[in-house]
Amino acid sequence: MLARLDGPLCRCGLQHPAGNDDEDIPAPLCGRCLRQPPPFTASQAPLRYSFPLDRLIGRYKYRGDLVAERGIEQLLADTPCPWPDIDALCALPAHWRRRWQRGFDQSQRLTDRLAGLWKIPSLPALQRQQSTPMQQGLSRSQRRRNLRGAFACTRPVSGLKLVLVDDVMTTGSSARAASECLLRHGAAEVRVWTLARTPER
Ligand SMILES: [Zn+2]
Repeated sequence: MLARLDGPLCRCGLQHPAGNDDEDIPAPLCGRCLRQPPPFTASQAPLRYSFPLDRLIGRYKYRGDLVAERGIEQLLADTPCPWPDIDALCALPAHWRRRWQRGFDQSQRLTDRLAGLWKIPSLPALQRQQSTPMQQGLSRSQRRRNLRGAFACTRPVSGLKLVLVDDVMTTGSSARAASECLLRHGAAEVRVWTLARTPER
């Protein structure tokens, strides 16, 4: 059984004990978001990143496993678009070294698949700059520093409402940096959609 993440959720996608279930009223921000409000206006992940989904995503990501990919496509097919008013989906690109090791970019594949299912265009507007070191093993503040200037915007995004797409959101540092890049280039609004969310530790 896969664990679903049910509302009320904070803007960072984590469950918020003080939230309400009314979708028209934004949930209050959690402590971390109050201290450092995310540049994106909402984030959503239908599933909790835990066993057995972590295994499935791992197989898909690191080994390009086609059976795992089919499993993930099945999950996507069961996931309706939470925001029909958006203009385009934008993949949060994998680190260039990862992409090179794996031979494919899982977030771009997810994005293209969702674009087909949700009938929303995919706009590959972001590129990773080649100089950023890997994020793994870095603290939250190190990650943030490391990610400054990590993304470049290579397509016109001015005035667009965009949704960033990735497989898993963990600390949200990459989503923050990528959103800031899109907003700096004139995007009207950025939201974040990931297949799974790491629960608060
Ligand atoms: Zn939050």
